[in-house]
Amino acid sequence: MAQALIIVDAQNDFCPGGALATARGAEIATLIGSYQASESAEAYDVQIATKDWHVDPGDHFDTWPPHCVAGSTGADFHEAIREDLLAAVFLKGRTTAAYSGFEGEAEGMLLAPWLRKRGITHIDVCGIATDHCVRATVLDGVKAGFDVRVLSELCAAVDNSAGDAALEEMRRAGASVI
Ligand SMILES: [Zn+2]
Repeated sequence: MAQALIIVDAQNDFCPGGALATARGAEIATLIGSYQASESAEAYDVQIATKDWHVDPGDHFDTWPPHCVAGSTGADFHEAIREDLLAAVFLKGRTTAAYSGFEGEAEGMLLAPWLRKRGITHIDVCGIATDHCVRATVLDGVKAGFDVRVLSELCAAVDNSAGDAALEEMRRAGASVI
């Protein structure tokens, strides 16, 4: 079995002080950074991350305040994220809203074929935000046929009750929430 760690949108704009902050964003990014370098993370064949990466995302900036503008500091990873341990970074949302990491591209490939090419069958998902992009990534991962676990202690929600509801929805969809 080959498995990947997928870190969703652990970017400055989703952390306190950012354009679209979650209360626990920085705390969670710090926990993710430690986890990446921990013994438990040696089980992964690859660690990858997604980034919300907006150039001209149309009405997405009517729905939300402008955030994660391509090339901006807000689009950078939180400083705790271990970029040196990432095999690839999948960018999503250039010209349209994109919540799922599976809409992201790296090396000219979408996430699902990139994982399949490496024989990855199991994915662990963490990041920001539980009730938006983590949720969409997990649901798409299940739909794409991956065995998906959600590392719930390493996820930050925009809204706590919506975050809990999203975890329940992911569980019902077939993901394990641990
Ligand atoms: Zn966005």
